[in-house]
Amino acid sequence: MIQIAIDGPSGAGKSTVAKAVAKRLGIIYVDTGALYRTVGYYVRSRNVDPKDATGVEALLPEIHVDLKYENGMQIVTLNGENLGDRIRTPEMSLYASAVSAIPAVRAFLLETQREIARRNSVIMDGRDIGTVILPNADVKIFLTASDECRATRRRDELVAKGISTTYEEVLADMQKRDSDDRNRAVAPAVAAPDAVEFDNSWMTPEECTDAIVKLISDKVGITV
Ligand code: C5P
Repeated sequence: MIQIAIDGPSGAGKSTVAKAVAKRLGIIYVDTGALYRTVGYYVRSRNVDPKDATGVEALLPEIHVDLKYENGMQIVTLNGENLGDRIRTPEMSLYASAVSAIPAVRAFLLETQREIARRNSVIMDGRDIGTVILPNADVKIFLTASDECRATRRRDELVAKGISTTYEEVLADMQKRDSDDRNRAVAPAVAAPDAVEFDNSWMTPEECTDAIVKLISDKVGITV
């Protein structure tokens, strides 16, 4: 079993690259952001302020979040319902970021993440995988790219999903969210001391995937 942690700010290409690496290595890709987005979605549906720690914490017993895999694709369910792209809107990004700063929410989602890594070889993407969730991961990568590249990628992703937005809007939301994620008191989104920092601003997704597969095979001694 192997554990690979990929952390870094939003839009750095973590999910694209982690999905491709998972396919090449025949392991499971775990998108942990989807868990925070799902909690954020429920909080929004109950009209609770996502910054109200007491209010959010009181809702946790009503929330059952499950992670499943169908044809290699991760499905996250909220109380049995697959929310699909409803958790992918810019509003849900901000809700996810706000609820993720609440210690009780992080504690609530911790076991779900560790459990899947206990049962499967995984490449897991998030903000605190190398620092908190899988501190003994075999390989830790902190993936970054310039603000301009990240905002362009995120905008293209949203537009492709039919969500209308502009570069300026995406850049402003992204910078606010990254700054909140980096500066929060619990599990701040920072590189683990033993993570390899990797800037992929000038790489295509294929080049970045190749480089990361090479890094992993060098480190854990597997041939791909
Ligand atoms: O990765 P994604 O953009 O879907 O994550 C949404 C938000 O969830 C992030 O901005 C961050 O605040 C939070 N998150 C987190 N820890 C993780 C994954 C996501 O705090 N491991």
